[in-house]
Amino acid sequence: MFSSWSSPPSPPPSPRPPHHLNASRSSFANPWPRSWLPTSLLRIPFVRAEPFNRPDIEPTKTVTPDWERYEERLDDGLRFTWLGHAGFLVQFPAVDATSNTIRVVFDPMFGERASPSDWFGPMRWLPPPCAVEDLPAIDFVCISHNHYDHLHLEALLTLNSRSTDDRPVIFFVPLGVKILLVTSGIGENRIHELDWWNSMTFPIPIPSQTPTASTLIPKPSPALSPISSSDTASPSASSSLDTFSIMPSSPPPSRIVFTLTPTQHNSGRGLLDQGATLWGSWVVKQFWPGGSSLEKIVDTGENAVGKKGKEREASVWFAGDTGYQTSDGPCPVFKEIGALHGPFDLAFIPIWRGASLSFIGKLGYRLSDSTSEALITALHASPEDAILVSRDVQARHSVAMHFATFAGSEHEALEPLIRLVEGRESVLGTAGVDDMDGKGRSKGKEDWEEEGGFGAVDIGGGGVIWVGR
Ligand SMILES: [Zn+2]
Repeated sequence: MFSSWSSPPSPPPSPRPPHHLNASRSSFANPWPRSWLPTSLLRIPFVRAEPFNRPDIEPTKTVTPDWERYEERLDDGLRFTWLGHAGFLVQFPAVDATSNTIRVVFDPMFGERASPSDWFGPMRWLPPPCAVEDLPAIDFVCISHNHYDHLHLEALLTLNSRSTDDRPVIFFVPLGVKILLVTSGIGENRIHELDWWNSMTFPIPIPSQTPTASTLIPKPSPALSPISSSDTASPSASSSLDTFSIMPSSPPPSRIVFTLTPTQHNSGRGLLDQGATLWGSWVVKQFWPGGSSLEKIVDTGENAVGKKGKEREASVWFAGDTGYQTSDGPCPVFKEIGALHGPFDLAFIPIWRGASLSFIGKLGYRLSDSTSEALITALHASPEDAILVSRDVQARHSVAMHFATFAGSEHEALEPLIRLVEGRESVLGTAGVDDMDGKGRSKGKEDWEEEGGFGAVDIGGGGVIWVGR
């Protein structure tokens, strides 16, 4: 992948990528056949919410995060905390004895409502685990798209206000989203706007103040999917390239690479800007040298923690918001992401449509399965879809998100979790109902800790995934 580093591609006159609807990068669409089941919406939309018979699966709750843990300098652990909805904080391993450990926040959402108004729109079911100000110092903020439940401007401005010359906060957004941040007062040189498949690399330690990132543009293999077969040149020469002219002759030994990868979703903060900005998921990979920094944890036995002297890697995929089904079956892009950038140590994957109508829940009803699936299929993943996404991108450990936080009822907050646990058995043939611990509780919910596992944590909860060993 880094073979192109020493000879950066001079942007060719590339044909318009299939997800660009115009040449001015102000209109976007999913380049896959749309899955939409309008007939199912004609059936009875609501049914009585029946209680679940899974007392072993505890409802999600909000707990107080243990921020002191972030002071530990793990050199082989990815630490994460769920901030609620699609919000996550991730701390990458320490690359040496002195550099800051890199912290990345994804889609921080701390608002009471996921809407432009304080008076209407989806309201919180569970509170945030803390105030934005309570978060440890952050280096990067990645935003998946501009929907209100993912781009919470107030949270971004608070994070921005904590930016210092020594530890600047750097923002990553998809094409078209930068202007909203700039007009809200965030410094232009700290916001990087990427197109699908574009990457940007920062050396570690992160240089202060001036942008010194380097970019390279990985090219999806034409064999992989329709999106790339018609896209013979590099997917796009992003405007963000203009911002950065420094291209080192070889990659810095310790570095972090951000890549915007596709999702099947949409965007818009009002009636008039539907699809006017891009959406996506984020691959974040840290590379750092093995050797001396590794020696203290290396034993000399046969199965010593290996890779001494070799480059080490920690990788995260943050899915943002996405559907899985197209009218031709599963969206091929997730296998493509896995083939180009996987496997990932840790993936955050949405398992629900996110928010819905609370009045239905208050009346003791729920959306019927057919209505629910019709709403979910194209633009959001069901728990069963999410399990397949996790498999397609080659995630070693997957953590569920985009549920319970803005749910309309207790029933809706719990349903995704139950379907995730039961889905692992039906979809992948693993874990599930019989997988109880000694106290009669399913181990299933915590399954993310296992290799290939997919589970959930409480809001404010999290854990560590061991990497680079
Ligand atoms: Zn969305």
